[in-house]
Amino acid sequence: YLPRTRVSTKSFISLFITTLLTSTLSLPEELFSLEIGTKIRSDKQSLMSVASDFGNLTKSTPAAVFYPSSSHDIAGLIHFSYTHSTPFFISPRGHGHSINGQASCSDGVVIHMESLGQGRADRINVSVANRYMDIGGEQLWIDVLSAAHAHGLGANSWTDYLHLTVGGTLSVGGISGQTFQHGPQISNVLELDVITGTGQQVTCSKTHNQDLFNAVLGGLGQFGIITRARIPLSPTPEKVKWIRLIYTNIVAFTRDQECLISVDENERLFGFLKYLEGSLLMDQGLIGSWRSSSFFPKNDMEKMAQLTAKHSLTALYYLEVVVAYDEDIAAEVDQELELLLDDLSFVPGFVFTREVTYVEFLDRVHDGELKLHKTGQWQVPHPWLNLFVPKSRILDFDAGVLKGILGSDKANGPILIYPMNKKKWNSKMSAIIPDEEVFYTIGILRSATNDDLEKMLEQNKKILEFCTMEGIPFKQYMPHYTTKEAWMEHFGPKWDKFLDLKMKYDPKGILSPAQKIYTFLL
Ligand code: FAD
Repeated sequence: YLPRTRVSTKSFISLFITTLLTSTLSLPEELFSLEIGTKIRSDKQSLMSVASDFGNLTKSTPAAVFYPSSSHDIAGLIHFSYTHSTPFFISPRGHGHSINGQASCSDGVVIHMESLGQGRADRINVSVANRYMDIGGEQLWIDVLSAAHAHGLGANSWTDYLHLTVGGTLSVGGISGQTFQHGPQISNVLELDVITGTGQQVTCSKTHNQDLFNAVLGGLGQFGIITRARIPLSPTPEKVKWIRLIYTNIVAFTRDQECLISVDENERLFGFLKYLEGSLLMDQGLIGSWRSSSFFPKNDMEKMAQLTAKHSLTALYYLEVVVAYDEDIAAEVDQELELLLDDLSFVPGFVFTREVTYVEFLDRVHDGELKLHKTGQWQVPHPWLNLFVPKSRILDFDAGVLKGILGSDKANGPILIYPMNKKKWNSKMSAIIPDEEVFYTIGILRSATNDDLEKMLEQNKKILEFCTMEGIPFKQYMPHYTTKEAWMEHFGPKWDKFLDLKMKYDPKGILSPAQKIYTFLL
């Protein structure tokens, strides 16, 4: 599982991979005589707590779980493995919200990142004067929101769901309705503290150790463990207007979205706009509505069902925008909105508006999560598929996948479809996106029962096959591949650089092995 062009590297890596694979069934004895050894547990409860993830599609038990109290502890563990004659795999686990076991570590050590922050208020620090905040990599975005909001400030770029760790989302990208405007979360980082695969603690930024900074952001945990991120802050509104517009037609729906994301930074609307996303709307009960539990009143859902029947559709589309709406700007925003709505082509009369606090809006998904927890539906398998599809092929994707392969099987979870601007992504970072100025993110976020899991997995496979056969140059977001060829295809021209950086920062291939990029299949 090696780069074709690097013959000398090949035998070097082979040696270590073979050593790793044959030697990690038990950890070296000496480890337990060190101080960090007291923070390693291999009781059944600890092992089972990290064996699966939100996807609930895989089970993989590590040899042990490490509960660090400082980044120094993590550096110690990695350094031990790196310098040992039989190194072992190590994987940081944030909040375990991956889908395909990406944070697992079969027979190696899983680092329980959240124990870094336990009982420590000093892991989140807001600098109001400098408009930035330092956050431990193990912290949840919901805690970032609370800490920053106390000062009237907030991050520029969020995820829809905030119970994810900072290190976990910065390892994949971190996208939501702010991405078109501010870029993904990885475009909004000033500085990082990283512990590399040799156990070295390194501070990096755009100007200092730049290659590590760019490698780690979107780097799927391959180059180092993020223990601190410094992110810029901006003033946030107290209140927002949250608007949904209904469409029956994909052409009008995508045209309006593309028009909105092209709003120039100098235009007044740009300042008010806080979010833009799009979704499919289906009547699918609790599971489908977990992202924003009760936005549409019951009467409106009936109106929507009539509209769907009238047009013989299996789903409607809705465009969702949020604008700042504090009292002092409300009149101006209303005026601006009126002009905007005049220009858009949603179904006349199908505009739905709510006024909520900004914090309520940002934490909108959590309500639905709590309801699903109560009914046991949060813990079911989640065969999610996230793709980036270039704008030029979005209509083909809609016809072939949303209307075709998924047909009337779109229920059982939200389906997101919204555009973003390539110029807001940094091409030097590890994250991979399509090579087109505007591309869509497609989130097929379904929940399965044991009865329909196989069918959903089969549909996901067909979707990928369809895109490949039709020549749609898509990229997977939070990619899951199991062969070298597929990873090479995913990284494209960045593959060689990816391997060079891996050799530099994790030369023994210790970190995050379950991504299956660098290691043999585990
Ligand atoms: P884990 O699942 O614990 O880890 C993910 C990967 O990152 C693993 O490879 C792990 O080894 C590595 N890793 C973890 N911590 C670190 C660290 N400190 N340093 C280096 N590597 C690390 N994503 C979005 O972009 N936008 C969304 O709106 C969004 N919504 C979601 C909603 C739900 C309900 C779920 C389940 C997921 C959502 N995601 C979203 C996906 C989520 O961002 C990723 O799965 C993310 O990696 C999960 O973070 P985590 O803390 O749970 O990480």
